[in-house]
Amino acid sequence: MPVRTKRMTREELPVNDNLCFHCEAKCCRYFALPLETPSEWSDFDQMRWFLLHENAAIFTEGKDWYLLVFSNCKNLDADNRCTGYDARPQICRDYTNRKCEYDDHWVYDRYFELAEQIEEYAEAILPHSTGDSLRSNSTTPWFAQRMITS
Ligand code: SF4
Ligand code: SF4
Repeated sequence: MPVRTKRMTREELPVNDNLCFHCEAKCCRYFALPLETPSEWSDFDQMRWFLLHENAAIFTEGKDWYLLVFSNCKNLDADNRCTGYDARPQICRDYTNRKCEYDDHWVYDRYFELAEQIEEYAEAILPHSTGDSLRSNSTTPWFAQRMITS
């Protein structure tokens, strides 16, 4: 199939055409997994670890947190087609282009792609006294240090 330079909108799709034929297979290039809502430094520290990996991001939708990993499916070919369509996983079978990210602009409530960003966020929302920093070189989190010294 030839590569199109200009993408038609969902609304412009002719009747009986398939939206997926005009898409770069956006839904086959990542996966997202739900995360526990972080409530303490150790939760954010684990998120820092996720974000130290290439192609990983974290986003929120409402109160829900997700790990997002940008990674092409191994079944995807150079023409954006599934080479294992007949044996594709159930999650792919359940997915529909009637409501998909074809024309999604990837806007999230919160979006973190760097470890430093989640660290700054944790610093902003976790209670701690002035002068404490989550960026300590110590392997002991700041809240544990305070408990030990108090
Ligand atoms: S389901 Fe949507 S995002 Fe996935 S290939 Fe089809 S049009 Fe693209
Ligand atoms: S198995 Fe096929 S449909 Fe499912 S993500 Fe991979 S390329 Fe896409």
